[in-house]
Amino acid sequence: MVKKIAHIGVATQSIAAASEVYEALGMTIGRVEEVEDQQVRVVLIEVGESAVELLEATDPASPIARFIEKRGEGIHHIAFEVDDIEKHLELLRSRGVELIDTVSGKGVHGAAVAFIHPRGAGGVLIELCERSKGGDA
Ligand code: ZN
Repeated sequence: MVKKIAHIGVATQSIAAASEVYEALGMTIGRVEEVEDQQVRVVLIEVGESAVELLEATDPASPIARFIEKRGEGIHHIAFEVDDIEKHLELLRSRGVELIDTVSGKGVHGAAVAFIHPRGAGGVLIELCERSKGGDA
């Protein structure tokens, strides 16, 4: 089951600079975390049931660095929270949906994450995430 929009991912040159507008809106900026799998630094800014996720590359080969090079800063992906990520990946595969990740990797707060290719999704990069069991997220 897809539960909700977990977050909207935004590719930034600088988390610090991009945070300012959210701070000015009175929103609380979370703790900056590094996700080694994706070569990014990440911060979550919670808004109701969802969050804005600011992403900053830690390496020029990072998917975020390459995205900004091609398209500039901006909205990068939408993340849906699911209850069973491996089951969803299996279902998508069986329907012939093009996946970037065929198995889940590690995301923010230890969540399991996997990406669906934007080619078959109207140009939108979709992230599936399953919160870690007993995690603090
Ligand atoms: Zn994300």
